Amino acid sequence: MSIDLKALLLLFFSTLATGVVQGDTQVDPKLALKMLNSQQQQFQKGVVQVTDNVFTAVGFHGANTSMIVGTDGVIIIDTLMGPSSAKAALQALRAHSDKPVKAILYTHSHGDHIGGASAFVGDEMPDIYGTQNFGSAEGATQAAGPVKQKRNVRQFGRKLSPVESTNRGVAPALTADGDGGKGFLPPTIKIPDNGLKTTIADVEIEMHIAPGETDDAMFIWLPNEKVLFSGDNFYSSFPNLYAIRGTAYRDVLNWSQSVAKMAEFQPHCVVPGHTMPILDADAAVTALTDYSQAIRSVYDQTVRGINAGKSPDQIAHEVELHADLKDKPYLIEFYGSVPHAVRAIYSGLLGWFDGNPTTLNPLEPKTKAHKIAELAGGTDRLTEQMQAALDQGDYQWALELSDHLKWLDDGDRKLARKVKIAALRGLAAQEYNAPNRNYYLSYANELESGELSEIWF
Ligand SMILES: [Zn+2]
Repeated sequence: MSIDLKALLLLFFSTLATGVVQGDTQVDPKLALKMLNSQQQQFQKGVVQVTDNVFTAVGFHGANTSMIVGTDGVIIIDTLMGPSSAKAALQALRAHSDKPVKAILYTHSHGDHIGGASAFVGDEMPDIYGTQNFGSAEGATQAAGPVKQKRNVRQFGRKLSPVESTNRGVAPALTADGDGGKGFLPPTIKIPDNGLKTTIADVEIEMHIAPGETDDAMFIWLPNEKVLFSGDNFYSSFPNLYAIRGTAYRDVLNWSQSVAKMAEFQPHCVVPGHTMPILDADAAVTALTDYSQAIRSVYDQTVRGINAGKSPDQIAHEVELHADLKDKPYLIEFYGSVPHAVRAIYSGLLGWFDGNPTTLNPLEPKTKAHKIAELAGGTDRLTEQMQAALDQGDYQWALELSDHLKWLDDGDRKLARKVKIAALRGLAAQEYNAPNRNYYLSYANELESGELSEIWF
């Protein structure tokens, strides 16, 4: 960990202790920005030499791509999002070997790992390895494609201005995405459920099935070099156990077990799917062990809350990482979020119903808005309360009140929209969780430009 980040963390936890923080990943705006900027070191563009024959290109797009040098060829692990960024990464890797590409291995089927494969193909067609169920990751939610696309743009802040952009938690902002997916080549060799041990260009290599972020994930192990490629089941941030762009349930228990299995190999180096490789044996094993335990702990605490009959809202505010895990730089919630994970586990195990009969058939939003206005002492009073909440920096409450006001025929909807935009920007400024921050800002911009007129009349 750099001195900078250590100092920031101290400041961060002292802020927590004084109770200034309102939300799980909300801090003073200056500190939020400093934290996000320090995380930037995790995807600084360049090639990292992992061992004598293993090289990882970081920061050429969102994810990492690695090259293992063998006797008569090289092996590529993951291929970035599209051919243009993959080409740039390969060019940088070529400083270390010009041998032909014998094989390409996909750790999982997410677009940022597979879309640039064609850039690595020379005269000979390499073998392409993926798991048996490769591609199953997004199948379950395909019907909701149009809205997922919009939410994806918000989560990653794809339309934010350079001034608004920070990063994506485990990836830089403003990546070149225009040719995304254009270089994808389907796997020609499917890894069976019990994994595969083979030799490519005289490099011994093992592929182990490891469901987690996706069901089709595997990790790759080099037994001689003792290097482990984790894919996206490990990177330097609390894991994205749920993605706000909208995903089917990611099996959190499997994820924890897959990372525990990685730790058992006692790697000397870990190369994550995103963020910097860890090049120290003790640090690598500790990080994997902590990571697995952190996921397991969030799962266990959530299950305890569920069986105590608590609602997801309650549990999401109660669950937290234990003190000995909280200060680990690779568990800070730059990308994943603990409360989001809790809600995902709840609905993954039980579906949407929280067990409270009040929520079996809640009031329709417009009816509820009228009743809330009545309760407040009239629409004008509700409007004043909304404005006051904004003025006091109580942004979440301002958002909730503006969402009621927008349904009222006698309400000032223009003002409600204005307040919502300002409250979203207020929350964004305090956020160090990149997806939250990007989502708040993107949604505010869409409201301001009128893009959301259908749902915000
Ligand atoms: Zn990824």
